[in-house]
Amino acid sequence: MAGNFTTDMIAPSTQVDIAEVMERSGKAFADYKKLSPQKRADFLLAIAAHIEDAREELILLAQEETNLPQGRLNNEITRTTTQLKMFASLLQEGSWVEATIDTDIDGSVPAKPDTRKILLPTGPVIVFGASNFPFAFSTAGGDTASALAAGCPVVVKGHSAHAQTSLRVFKAIEAAIAQVQVPAYTVQHVMGPGSAVGKQLVMHPAAKGVGFTGSYNGGTALVEYARQRSIPIPVFAEMSSINPVVFYPDTLAKNATNLATTFAASITLGMGQFCTNPGLLIGIEGSAFEGFLELLAAAIKEVLPQKMLHTSIHTAYETGLKKILSLEGIRELGRSCKEAAVLEGTPVVAMVQAKDFLANEHFTEEVFGPFSLAVSCRDKEELQQVLKSLKGQLTSTIVATPEDIRAFEDVIELQHNLAGRIILNNAPTGVEVCASMVHGGPFPATTDERFTSVGTSAIKRWVRPVCFQNFLDEMLPAALQNSNPLGILRLVNNQYTRDAIVKVPSP
Ligand code: NAP
Repeated sequence: MAGNFTTDMIAPSTQVDIAEVMERSGKAFADYKKLSPQKRADFLLAIAAHIEDAREELILLAQEETNLPQGRLNNEITRTTTQLKMFASLLQEGSWVEATIDTDIDGSVPAKPDTRKILLPTGPVIVFGASNFPFAFSTAGGDTASALAAGCPVVVKGHSAHAQTSLRVFKAIEAAIAQVQVPAYTVQHVMGPGSAVGKQLVMHPAAKGVGFTGSYNGGTALVEYARQRSIPIPVFAEMSSINPVVFYPDTLAKNATNLATTFAASITLGMGQFCTNPGLLIGIEGSAFEGFLELLAAAIKEVLPQKMLHTSIHTAYETGLKKILSLEGIRELGRSCKEAAVLEGTPVVAMVQAKDFLANEHFTEEVFGPFSLAVSCRDKEELQQVLKSLKGQLTSTIVATPEDIRAFEDVIELQHNLAGRIILNNAPTGVEVCASMVHGGPFPATTDERFTSVGTSAIKRWVRPVCFQNFLDEMLPAALQNSNPLGILRLVNNQYTRDAIVKVPSP
């Protein structure tokens, strides 16, 4: 029944409760997937509007729970509503379903059947809220928006670090469910420990996909649960990335001061609690790289410690920092001039020679916070070795002049293989929400490098291609019908067109 939503499922703690939540989600799918693209767009727009109405309340709650400043939270809410609106526009335009039609051709030998392909929603999606993005990667964030756009119901596993914020966003979603009259239980919200509640959600047969942003351990645990199911499901986890930046010699000789300011700001932005934080700064030894590192260390010293998101992230940072600074060959270059108070992260930059870096895999582990490690390479060959030793990343940044680009073409090519987003002369922090964005990359940056969790193509994680063969026109989804009632761009007999298909009746 439309509008029949409840808040009584906030903290199910038993298997029965979770089973009930998942069964409701399965039932909601049967109705929700049948809604027109326009109705789903209306739903997403209504969620955005209800979040907008609650903006001030949400900022206060999130400030209380996350220690993030008002300005950052304000921007993040805007980013969240922008994402919802972007998916609404995608649905209204409609061509994203990749309607592909091969009509039967009269007289072909052997006779060819009429085949028509479209992307259809897979079913209920479990979304794990991320602690470092209380809005944009949480309850009504990119995973939820893309799944709802695809036609999948969502069960949100809220993050305990911002439980009240998550519940308030869910209230906005509930208001949208009632307003637009989408099926009850299209979105549900549960809280509780991931290893119990999260596991049961992922293991339930009704679940058809998982969206996650967080730690390597958390992401790989979810993959393991999904594998243990009698019918496995995909887990789209965004986990661990140190986002290497290569500083080439000519630019270091010409632009060291600007680069030091830019990258000190990027390393410490939001106390380093961004998945695109530049954690690895690579260069070729010599006065240009050393001069740059001196300027960078001086800039890092000026950045004051600030509170991190929550105790466990803070403890993980302190432990990770201590561990990496104890590794053979590392040298601390600069540390914030002020002692950190309770829960505060201390900005630090350190350096290691490439030979020591290559000898110890622990140097490549993510230290989530305001820390970055510089790697000094003897020459171009050693720089190539360092790049080849790296695992998959979200971003790979090239800092270079046109002269550098000519001289290091082969090294730059190696940088292309590393990540989902290759950046030239920009800092990696800051992920645009737009159709061309890729926020993904080879393992362990994510569990599936073929997809992105930001941008409109994030919707592709929650659909599967289905081919209808020899169907009557009225039995087909609207997007595949001869008259093209949605007016979308389709691939018809290998030609892109918005034209209707005119079938000439057989004589
Ligand atoms: P997290 O520990 O991975 O938790 C994220 C979500 O996954 C939480 O809802 C958590 O549930 C759940 N979860 C964790 N382990 C699980 C398991 N074994 N089974 C089922 N569910 C599980 O991430 P976090 O709390 O956001 O931060 C912890 C660390 O993750 C940070 O210190 C940082 O190193 C890393 N991190 C990385 C990124 C990145 O983008 N690379 C982003 C955020 C955090 P409960 O906590 O409720 O049990």
